[in-house]
Amino acid sequence: MSSTGFSAGVLRSGDTSGGIVDHRLARRMLINQIRLGRLRADEVCDAHPELLRAAANVGTVTEVTCPVCEQDQLRLVTYVFGRGLPSHGRCVSTAEEMQKLSRHGAERRAYVVEACVSCRWHHLLRVHQL
Ligand SMILES: [Zn+2]
Repeated sequence: MSSTGFSAGVLRSGDTSGGIVDHRLARRMLINQIRLGRLRADEVCDAHPELLRAAANVGTVTEVTCPVCEQDQLRLVTYVFGRGLPSHGRCVSTAEEMQKLSRHGAERRAYVVEACVSCRWHHLLRVHQL
């Protein structure tokens, strides 16, 4: 199992300006661009293999159908990055695990990502401090 190249940076946030971004708004805009034909699905459906693996194995299946391929339900994966953790983060699948990680407190952030294992769509939904 390799996690080469996986980092917080591969979790697309729609933030290209370096400023604060509303992830949901960025997501909506991206999906609109695809629907309008201004973006090809394969330009945005490029989830990192590590993310897809996590989504397939430990992801939380949602009620939401993938907005891109409409073939599969989106899965949520949470990664924690920060102090004392590997640079590729820690994939967290249980509340218990999350609690353990947050006990160590400061300088750790959880990234909640949605991913589609069918078409490889992925988007960062929210980031929060533990
Ligand atoms: Zn999809």
